[in-house]
Amino acid sequence: MMTARVVVVGAGPAGMFASYLLGKQGFDVLLVEMGDDIEERMAKIKNGGNTAGIHYIQGMGGSGTFSDGKINLNPEIGGNMLEFVSKSDADSMIDYVDQLFVKYGMDKESQIHPKTKDLQKRAMRAGIKYIPIKQKHIGSDFLPKIVGGIKAEMEKMGVEVMVKTKAVDLMVKDGKIAGVVIEKDGKQTKVDAKYVILAPGRAGSRWLLDLASKLGLPYQYGPLDIGVRVEVTNEVMEEFTEINWDPKFHIRTKSHDDFVRTFCTNPAGFVITEDYGKFVSVN
Ligand SMILES: Cc1cc2nc3c(=O)[nH]c(=O)nc-3n(C[C@H](O)[C@H](O)[C@H](O)COP(=O)(O)OP(=O)(O)OC[C@H]3O[C@@H](n4cnc5c(N)ncnc54)[C@H](O)[C@@H]3O)c2cc1C
Repeated sequence: MMTARVVVVGAGPAGMFASYLLGKQGFDVLLVEMGDDIEERMAKIKNGGNTAGIHYIQGMGGSGTFSDGKINLNPEIGGNMLEFVSKSDADSMIDYVDQLFVKYGMDKESQIHPKTKDLQKRAMRAGIKYIPIKQKHIGSDFLPKIVGGIKAEMEKMGVEVMVKTKAVDLMVKDGKIAGVVIEKDGKQTKVDAKYVILAPGRAGSRWLLDLASKLGLPYQYGPLDIGVRVEVTNEVMEEFTEINWDPKFHIRTKSHDDFVRTFCTNPAGFVITEDYGKFVSVN
């Protein structure tokens, strides 16, 4: 039996930031992550093979560690924060995250390119809305160092991080959370906790759904978009991506008035597989 005041499940951006902030305020935090630490993930991805896809999405830093590191400093991109908090709270949270990334090596300034207005006009003439936003790009070469830096500071604050450790169940007593059952090297341990934060990302979404059903917790699905990866020659895209690394275009189709948007453009990037065990997707 172990004890921790707060157990955080999943060391992706959500779990890491929650642990970082709680650790900073002096909470006794245990962060459990079923995947590997950063260096081991890197080595396994480099070696390739059938399981490389798992390590892009599981492990310290979650899907963020080997992502493109596009930082969209806007509350309405990548979900809508304004559904949960006021605009001023959203702006100050985004500012905080921005400053934290800057502290660990991300560029300070994000400029709006001088050709932005021209692109906006050109898009408008074609019936397309171009949305200029404040954006930064860390890049997959540099991102693991930033995630590693944040992890190291978190541990200095006293946050305990356990990798290769899977949360398998929640402990509930008298209708209240009492802890988490974790599994490491095939051995299960009960961890008493007053609070539990579940941040298992896409890799743990099935587990989370099963858990919610078992405990009778209500849940709702987020909106589902159909994402299509389109590979375009870099020479064609360059005139747009030099203005904005990840340009946001919004289109209403003429035939059915469907809403279509561009997302996650990766100039001169690589296509990788995301392995979710029972299915594989690309990114
Ligand atoms: C290739 C790629 C590129 C991307 N590029 C960008 C980008 O440029 N900009 C951007 O903003 N977003 C990008 N994203 C999306 C971004 O990475 C995700 O939105 C973000 O990582 C989600 O954070 P999260 O903490 O919710 O979940 P995740 O990052 O998925 O982390 C969840 C973690 O929980 C762990 N876990 C799950 N279940 C358990 C369990 N039972 N016990 C213990 N641990 C568990 C998982 O192993 C995982 O490490 C990209 C994603 C991918 C895959």
